[in-house]
This record gives sequence, C-alpha cells and structure tokens, in this order.
Amino acid sequence: MLKKIPSLVLSALDKLKESNFEAYLVGGCVRDLVLDIPPKDWDIATNAKPEEIIKIFGSENTFYENKFFTVGIKTENPSLGIIEVTTYRTESAYSDKRRPDQVYFASNLEEDLGRRDFTMNAMALDLKSSEDFALIDPFEGKKDIENKLIKTVGSAEKRFGEDALRMMRAIRFHAQLGFRIEKNTLEAIKKNSQDIKHVAWERIGVEFSKIILSSNPAEGIDLLRQTNLLGYLLPELAQGIGVSQNHHHIHSVYKHSLLSLKYCPSPKLEVRLAALFHDIAKPQTKQGQGKQATFYNHEYLGAKIVKNILRRFCFSTEIINKVFLLIANHMFYYNPEEVTESSVRKLIRKVGLENMQDLIDLRIADRLGSGTPKAKPYKLRHLEYIIEKVSQDPISVKMLKINGNDLQKNLHIPPGPKIGAILEVLLAEAIEDPKLNDSEKLTKRALELDKQDLTELRQLAKNKIEEEKEKDDSIIKKRHWVK
Ligand code: ATP
Ligand code: MG
Repeated sequence: MLKKIPSLVLSALDKLKESNFEAYLVGGCVRDLVLDIPPKDWDIATNAKPEEIIKIFGSENTFYENKFFTVGIKTENPSLGIIEVTTYRTESAYSDKRRPDQVYFASNLEEDLGRRDFTMNAMALDLKSSEDFALIDPFEGKKDIENKLIKTVGSAEKRFGEDALRMMRAIRFHAQLGFRIEKNTLEAIKKNSQDIKHVAWERIGVEFSKIILSSNPAEGIDLLRQTNLLGYLLPELAQGIGVSQNHHHIHSVYKHSLLSLKYCPSPKLEVRLAALFHDIAKPQTKQGQGKQATFYNHEYLGAKIVKNILRRFCFSTEIINKVFLLIANHMFYYNPEEVTESSVRKLIRKVGLENMQDLIDLRIADRLGSGTPKAKPYKLRHLEYIIEKVSQDPISVKMLKINGNDLQKNLHIPPGPKIGAILEVLLAEAIEDPKLNDSEKLTKRALELDKQDLTELRQLAKNKIEEEKEKDDSIIKKRHWVK
C-alpha cells in the first residue's frame, strides 16, 4: 500500500513532522489506498496553522487563497498536481445548506475526521516510517469498505441537513465504486431530496460530471431518479420516463437514454453527455401514438435544450458546444448502398473531421441502447473507412488547390467579397466531385465564374447549399420514420 504514495507526498509529511507538527494523510486518498486503487489527489491534515504551513514550505512553493485553512503545495509534477495541506478544522451549522456559516480550527485529528461525510472518507493514515503505518479509523470506515457500504459519519439526517450536496456525493461514490448506500443513509436521501435546491450549481456540476465519468454512470443517474433528486436536477430527462417510442424501439425514451449512456464506448465526458441527452426532446416532439409515432426535428430542439441543461450545471463553453454539435447531428443517415462519398464529405464538412469518431461513438451508443440493434456494426466500420478515404478530399475552402491570392494573381480580381463567393462555389462543386480539385480546372472554372456578378455568385453558392440542405432534410425525415 505504501509503495503507491509518491515521494513528494512522503517528504511533505516529513517536513511537517520535523517541525514538530502532526501530519496525516486523510480523506479520499486513504480510502483509495485501502481499496488498492490509485488516489487522484493527496490530502494532508495537520495541527499546523496555515501561516505555519506556508513558513515550512516557503511562500514561493505554496498558495493560500480560500478561507477554509487549506494551503496548496505546488509539486511541478503534472500527474501529482497540488498537495493540499489543511489545518484540522470543523464546521458550524450550514444554515443555508450551501456552505458552513463558519469554519473553525478543530483541536485534534478525531474532530477533523468527524466532520467528513462518509465513514470511508473519514480515515487517516499515520506514516511512522517508510514501512510502518497505522490506520486511524474512528468510524469503522475500513469495515464499511469491506462490506462495500456508503454510510454517513453520524446521523444521516443531520449530515444531509448540514450540506445537501452530500446526497449527490453518496450517489457519485455508488456510481464510481459500485458500493451500496446503507439503508438509513438511503432513506435520509429520499426524505431530504428537496433540499438539493439549496446547493450551488457549480458544486452539483462537479459531482454530476463524476457520475457521468464513473464506471456505472447509468446506475448513478437512475439512483438520482429513485431518490427523487432527478426531478429537480434534470426535469427534462425525467420527462422521458414511461414515454414510449415507435416500432423500432422496445424501451421508453428514459430507459433508452440510460442504456445509451451505459453502452457508450467512449470515455469522453462530452460523448457520454451526448449519449445520455441525445433524445431529450423526444417527449416534446412526439406525434402520433403507438408504433407509428414520429419525433421530427428532435435532434435540433434537443441540442438547444441540452445547451440550457449544461449551462445550468456550469460546464465549459467548449464542452457545451461539442455536446450541442453531436446531438444536433446524431441523426445522420448512413447506409453503404445508398450514401455517396460526396455526402460523407458534406457530413464531415458540417461536423468537422475531428468530431467524426465521437459522432460514430454516439451512434454506437444509440444503437446498443436501443435494445433492437438493427444497424449492423459493419455499416459503421464502412463509414469509418469512407471517412478515412475522403478525409484528404476538399471539405473546406482551405483544402482547395487554389486560394484567394491565386485568384487575385491569375484573374486580376481585386481583393474583396467576390473572391470569397467564387471559392464557395468552387468548394460546393468539388465536394460533389473531388476530381475538380485541380489547380488548372479550378482556375478555368474560376474564370467562368468571374463573369458573373457578386449577387449571382452568392445565389449560386446559396442554391448549392440549399440543395444540400433539402437532401439532408429528406434524409432526416426518412430516418425519423425508420427510427
Ligand atoms: P475524489 O477521489 O473524487 O477526489 P474525495 O473523497 O477525495 O474523492 P474530495 O471532494 O476530494 O473527495 O474531498 C476530499 C475529502 O473531503 C473527502 O474524502 C471527505 O473526507 C471530505 N469532504 C469533501 N466534501 C465533503 C462534504 N461535502 N462534506 C463533508 N466532507 C467532505
Ligand atoms: Mg479528493
């Protein structure tokens, strides 16, 4: 177990002890060491006060910005990040259920451990030497770990009353570790679920991401439902409960969403979010009943709804835009017998080559989550092959074998909007037929196009785009029907 502790962490403990302070590893890293899994971050608890910690490590190696007595030790080691050294502390009541009214120094380690959420997170490790250690475990956390139980330190009612986020943390640990939530703890979550509304969304967002990235994300989400937290956190997803689909689906919208998340082959947060939320607008867009129901445009409406959900959970713009793109395009049609290379180029142009694998992963998740896998994996492998094949073909103006400068030089067109319009038309034509992407052919065609005025050119480019859109739409409609 001790082998897993990085030497920088050991030396931080030693430094504190050499200055005659107590120092212990605490919290998540001790739990993970007992579980024999690699800890994600390292926390040290000490009786040294923040100023004393800063003095020991030097102000250039530390930073201290929050008011909760945690000093960060910089390590220069990216995989190690920051070692957090926190003075023993305790908390007063959380009258607003968001944050403690006041944080106090605690007099000893036991008191510090007692303010922690779950027994498995309330253990400390005393490293006496490189081989000799003692586990300090006043709340029998080790026993609960052996029994795979998530249990609050002290009264569950009281602990959730202090900080309602702990309810979500319990579910997050269930999803990560596969542990059961102990009976009283679970009952208390069900009873106090409405208190989650007092918790800041940034904190909820962190735990929600950890559920999504865990090894059992679908179980985590469904536990949110069973404990009545889902209705507040994700009413849009809860709307899909019991909403039946059409003859190509055996599951309700909600169940299909969970199964898509469960079977999502990608470890990426954004792809998993897209898998969970890709059909979020199906309840609103449903027309007709029974086997013939349709869900026209659910992907576009869904992408918009998901933007709001992800904003609420305080996700970064980058993640939000990516999930939006994946969901808006998840209905792309692909059938090796019908779909041409040019339509794959158009799809790549629309979605971006860098996003194609994620879009395919979303399709795999969708298919595996549908319960009636009809699209053969062969089709998707074939699509991967076509993507590879056409990825060198022109899909953006930048990939044309001619550029704005060439047009200025060869056609003597002055810089201005006409050049852009000519390039757009050239691209639209090269997407249809990549053989046209040849500098001689392009120059010849550009000379012809130059005879038209700007309005005509724009109209021409627009017509080509409209044609694409119409084709897309008819394909989408078809897919809605067959899906
Ligand atoms: P992870 O491995 O994901 O980092 P963790 O258990 O270390 O999980 P952190 O959020 O890093 O979780 O918190 C570190 C420790 O602080 C926890 O193990 C727990 O002892 C304590 N803790 C964190 N959040 C709370 C809370 N809301 N209420 C009580 N104790 C908490
Ligand atoms: Mg941690």
